[in-house]
Amino acid sequence: MKTVRPLGLYIHIPFCKAKCVYCDFYSLPHGEDRMDAYTDALCAHLTEAAPLAASHTVDTVYFGGGTPSYLGEKRLCKILKVIEKRYQVARDAEITLEANPDSAGDWKALRALRRCGFNRISLGMQSACDEELRTIGRVHTMEQVQQAVEAARKAKIQNLSLDLIYGLPHQTQERWMENLAAAVALNPEHLSCYGLKVEEGTPLFAMKDTAGLPGDEEQADMYLQTVEFLKQYGYEQYEISNFAKPGRESRHNL
Ligand code: SF4
Repeated sequence: MKTVRPLGLYIHIPFCKAKCVYCDFYSLPHGEDRMDAYTDALCAHLTEAAPLAASHTVDTVYFGGGTPSYLGEKRLCKILKVIEKRYQVARDAEITLEANPDSAGDWKALRALRRCGFNRISLGMQSACDEELRTIGRVHTMEQVQQAVEAARKAKIQNLSLDLIYGLPHQTQERWMENLAAAVALNPEHLSCYGLKVEEGTPLFAMKDTAGLPGDEEQADMYLQTVEFLKQYGYEQYEISNFAKPGRESRHNL
């Protein structure tokens, strides 16, 4: 008898509008002219690799990056259609799209994505403070975060996660808690809160001694406060950096 084992697919989209100062992920700024070629190559590779997954059922698909939302809904749907055609995708599979607020404010585009199968959005909010966002090289504002959340809800996306970073340059504990409270006020089903890591080779690493970074102790306190605070609002911690309303843990993470 054929065995059917679960399989998670991770699709990397290596394009971003600009490079954030702390980022050591593989991503290319200003790569618009290569997006079509990349999409075609990805589709070809998915088709070529599909026989290797013949005895698996895909229960999670995660489009990470980079900034997947920056690729645009047409290319994203094209890739997802190849996956659905070539792989056995479970009817209730969790299909996540990482998105940045500056490329996720159009509710009709989000509706098109939901209709083609995406059922979870992970939005890179990072901070509620525009000055902090600018300092770390993010190209969005808090207003765009709010617009993106509104757009996602209008598009009937019912599973929304917000990503936040604590320990940013010059960030106080009070400021961090304000950011966290602003995120909770947007009522996401899931939150990921990461402590800033200064990775070698990034612009932030080169200025780490003068960037006003909170120390390890301060960062640890922010973390402990985060766990306490989110518990009060009904978010259970199910992994070091991940918090969810009951039943909304990310299957991709699990
Ligand atoms: S948006 Fe994300 S992947 Fe892109 S440069 Fe910033 S941190 Fe890196």
